Amino acid sequence: MENILDYTQDELKQWMELNGEKSFRAKQINDWIYKGIFNFDDMKNIPNETKAKLNNSFYIGVPEVTHRLDSKNNDTSKFLLKFKDGNIIECVVMKYDYGNSICISTQVGCRMGCSFCASTIGGLIRSLSSGEMLGEILRAQKEIGERISNIVLMGSGEPLDNYDNVVKFLKTVNFDNGLNIGQRHITLSTCGIVPKIYDLMKENLQITLAISLHAPNDYLRKKIMPIANKYTIDEIINACKDYIKTTKRRVTFEYSLVKDVNDSTENAEELASILKGMLCHVNIIPVNAVKENDYEKPSNHRIKNFSDVLTKFNIENTIRKEMGTDINAACGQLRRNYLNQSNEMRCKDGGDVI
Ligand code: SAH
Repeated sequence: MENILDYTQDELKQWMELNGEKSFRAKQINDWIYKGIFNFDDMKNIPNETKAKLNNSFYIGVPEVTHRLDSKNNDTSKFLLKFKDGNIIECVVMKYDYGNSICISTQVGCRMGCSFCASTIGGLIRSLSSGEMLGEILRAQKEIGERISNIVLMGSGEPLDNYDNVVKFLKTVNFDNGLNIGQRHITLSTCGIVPKIYDLMKENLQITLAISLHAPNDYLRKKIMPIANKYTIDEIINACKDYIKTTKRRVTFEYSLVKDVNDSTENAEELASILKGMLCHVNIIPVNAVKENDYEKPSNHRIKNFSDVLTKFNIENTIRKEMGTDINAACGQLRRNYLNQSNEMRCKDGGDVI
């Protein structure tokens, strides 16, 4: 049995033809799925014979909701979603003035080992397929009863460590009779796997690239992110400059601000010097405390100081508005709590932390 969401509409058309069906059935089926019908038997204009064939070959891989948490002011909803094999991931929907934005996971767990991040604590379990990523959005959309118009790949997992599936997902998601989410409304966040950044720019996508930099020099970055032992900041910045040249898109740098680790005036000045003259934006994220480490958020004064120093050097920046802290909405925390409680780590076949 295959997840029908892993098929693009063209692939599904081919399947129909190969299986003695009319190719236009592919569009009809997708129309139902994107309307929130996740069962072939409920698709009214599909003949019973076709339904039988579909039921024999496919399932509709939309995950089930095992937990849903809504923040008190209702601007954030967090979902723990369970796939067919029992693996659990999380995604978050945030309501903004400009529409609903979803933060999706790209892997079950993660093998990047960043020291402040809860997603990586149990290592990588497995990567998600493109259809499973689509499934997160379809489920969340059905749950909130509203359209989702923006996607950030910033949940659990490293998108560029799951390159082929992520690229297929990005291409499927803005297909016009699918979710129809434009690439300019999609942000991919990576810890900086340099060769894959070069591959990504060749895909001719109009998505926003976000780099989790978190430190202004390699010495400090190595202390908090193992990937820094593999690729230098120089290599990342050069790849980003090429990305900007090729795509004409502004790059975002994420900087999780940790008290007494990377939040000094000198750190901000050094960051400004490496980003000087680039078409970029810095997203300052006051670190979310995670039970398994002892990182702390800097004081508001220090956060503002970091931002002011960047502004003084003409580096555009924003301090990320905190949403959903009352519901454990930060990277991997909800799943982590869930696994701690149920002690349920399944299907472990992923690699080790880098
Ligand atoms: N692997 C990708 C995407 C997932 S993490 C990446 O590294 O970019 C999404 C963002 O949240 C990254 O910038 C990550 O470094 C950051 N993050 C993870 N845990 C965090 C925490 N506890 N507090 C603040 N930011 C965190």
